[in-house]
Amino acid sequence: MKKSKFLSICGAAIFSAFLFVSCESENEEILVDSSLDKDVLLKLQRAHFSTENARIIEFMGEKGVAVEDMFLTFDQINELSQNVVGPHEKQYRTTNLVTGLPRVIKVSVDPDLGTLGSDALDAMIDMYNAENLQLTFERTTFGLKGKKKADIEVTEFYELESGGFITLGRAAGFPNRKGNPAKGFGINSRWFELLNPSLAEVTGTMAHEVGHCIGFRHTDYMTRESCGQNVNEGNAGVGAIHIDGTPTVSDATSLMQACGPADRFNQNDITALNVLY
Ligand SMILES: [Zn+2]
Repeated sequence: MKKSKFLSICGAAIFSAFLFVSCESENEEILVDSSLDKDVLLKLQRAHFSTENARIIEFMGEKGVAVEDMFLTFDQINELSQNVVGPHEKQYRTTNLVTGLPRVIKVSVDPDLGTLGSDALDAMIDMYNAENLQLTFERTTFGLKGKKKADIEVTEFYELESGGFITLGRAAGFPNRKGNPAKGFGINSRWFELLNPSLAEVTGTMAHEVGHCIGFRHTDYMTRESCGQNVNEGNAGVGAIHIDGTPTVSDATSLMQACGPADRFNQNDITALNVLY
């Protein structure tokens, strides 16, 4: 979410999902277990997640696995690993999408994220609604219960950089089988403290995490090239389907790159949004 990749603080380079920092410090997240069962690791790898630094945490009141900028419960991991698609497809989206279109998705933001979080939520809503999709977004009050509860809640979490990375946002999975979006995502307030991000950067990160909540995988999930990696795990794909009309090759300016510099939709993101919604 940053135009310039390199910042002076700790010699940092900022990315959409992760911020790379050369200084290291203790991690204060609610870590449950730093090691995953081989079975869970294999399922995640089969679904093309980078299991580097994958660990069991508590997030938004549930126990599950932090992997990339996602939080997946064990049920969600099982579901992703079961949705096998053709062996030679390139993919971008998860199997489940938000259904019941046209549909209004209510979103709310934790006041703990301050004016910046509040303004970014409004800007993110405008960003999606400007695309005139069948899915529109509407702000509601944070913390409502029952039927009035937001479909996507933006919560605050505080997690220090670890292993050279800081996670800026973390989405609570993908749409469920009932066709509802993931229940929300977190924004790391440590990021605010460390780098004083701009409104555009926070807006872009929120839009990226909403992308996951409504079914987008990372554009470069096969290679993770935007994170400086070059993973080649073959073409077998799980829980993800290529979206017609979008490239199957590198797309460096996509908002849905794992670690890309974008803070707005590029033309392919817009095409993908229009195909799905
Ligand atoms: Zn992401």
